[in-house]
Amino acid sequence: MERKVRVRFAPSPTGPLHIGGVRTALYNYLFARQHGGDMILRIEDTDSQRFVPGAEDYINEALAWLGIGIDEGVREGGNYGPYKQSERRDIYRDHVRMLLDAGKAYIAFDTPAELEAARAATPNFQYDASTRMSMRNSLSMPADEVKALIDGGEKYVVRFKIEPGRDVEVNDLLRGKVTINSSILDDKVLYKSADDLPTYHLANIVDDHLMEVTHVIRGEEWLPSAPLHVLLYEAFGWADTMPSFVHLPLLLKPDGKGKLSKRDGDRLGFPVFPLEWHDPKSGEISSGYRERGYLPQAVVNFLALLGWNPGDDTEIMSMDELIEKFSFDHCSRSGAKFDFEKGKWFNHKYLQEMSDEELAQMYKPVLKEHGVDPSAWTDEYITRVVGLVKGRINFVGDLWDQSKFFFVEPEEYEEKSVRKRWNAEMPAIMGELIEVLKGLEDFSSKAAEPVVLGWIADKGYHLGNVMNAFRLTVVGECKGPHMFDITELLGCDETVRRIQLGIDRLG
Ligand code: GLU
Repeated sequence: MERKVRVRFAPSPTGPLHIGGVRTALYNYLFARQHGGDMILRIEDTDSQRFVPGAEDYINEALAWLGIGIDEGVREGGNYGPYKQSERRDIYRDHVRMLLDAGKAYIAFDTPAELEAARAATPNFQYDASTRMSMRNSLSMPADEVKALIDGGEKYVVRFKIEPGRDVEVNDLLRGKVTINSSILDDKVLYKSADDLPTYHLANIVDDHLMEVTHVIRGEEWLPSAPLHVLLYEAFGWADTMPSFVHLPLLLKPDGKGKLSKRDGDRLGFPVFPLEWHDPKSGEISSGYRERGYLPQAVVNFLALLGWNPGDDTEIMSMDELIEKFSFDHCSRSGAKFDFEKGKWFNHKYLQEMSDEELAQMYKPVLKEHGVDPSAWTDEYITRVVGLVKGRINFVGDLWDQSKFFFVEPEEYEEKSVRKRWNAEMPAIMGELIEVLKGLEDFSSKAAEPVVLGWIADKGYHLGNVMNAFRLTVVGECKGPHMFDITELLGCDETVRRIQLGIDRLG
């Protein structure tokens, strides 16, 4: 019987979600949506030592910001809960018992010091079929002794009893069949009596089974655990509902070799987290894509293409298009270089798709940050400003640099241009220009431009020098949109006032 596709994203709340984890969540989501399946968010918090307060909220907020919808989870509820592992202790305890009763697991009492001694005595020591009988466990000790120790409150762990010499097959949709020999695996700890909690491996498998997960899509770093997971599925007798595995390739440093790390981001100046993260212990703040001015659609599009392509060179794709086109057939098996410049390009593209009205609303807080009260201007004015400069921006924050002169007069004049364009005759010429502009009945770009250019030609002035000096007085530097579009928006009075100010200041 065809099973309904069910996938899970299963982060451990040990800190902010790394951008690689976000990509894993995204691929799970795309796959689930494409197949009309369910997307589960499971919080894997069985390692109390590494628990970080705020991390779970962070994960929820980041996924919501990116539009990665969750069907079942701690917040969403669902028929397979609880969705937080620390609330599923009873379930794990029962399952540990099932393995013990079936003789597929055993109890071990070895203390850290004893394990240390075994490691020191035997090179490459591994707790497995070849060594377990020389250790202190329920296989090597008489049953009454084991019982007495447990009754006496002695701490123990439960280990998985791995049969050596078996070929274990992992079916990975990206990599094909990966076969490893069970002899290289150690008898992994599944449960610790000290905190009455399972380890990652047991909890992960039990939950994947009980939550009826059909596809385990996760980072490549979990590939070495997969044979053990296959063996656990078999030990429980669940082999016929074994999920398919997909181990996604790593995100790599933009330069050099190796896995993308937070240090690379710090070194090269880009975030590796979706949202800004305030570390509750150190107080350190790590930058996030959201706070850097990225649009979530741009981040999603950018991440989707880090390790996957649609089979042609289409680059701009909405979430719906990604859902339609996504396929593991076009996922790469090798790591994807993290190209931060490309991320900026995506943001640029998505900003261009937005309407000037929307961008104007997003610009308002930026104006405020720079001490400009946006309510002093009409929405129409801000919208028209945005329309003139948006082609030059990668982020909403860039709007300020490109358009501040629409809101504040120049504080200074770019030195190089002053040297090049402002000569002894310029104050007089600018004085004449003021008269020409004042004489205009229609101050629109279309009407003003031929009149001013005509005046320059009649006088035989140098076109470049005059226009640049004009721009210098109004903008403060020799860049920006078309000059007469600027003056049309500023209006005659403000334009004239600025030219006069330039004359007075530059002399
Ligand atoms: N809790 C693991 C993690 O943090 C889950 C790995 C898996 O998806 O199986 O990545």
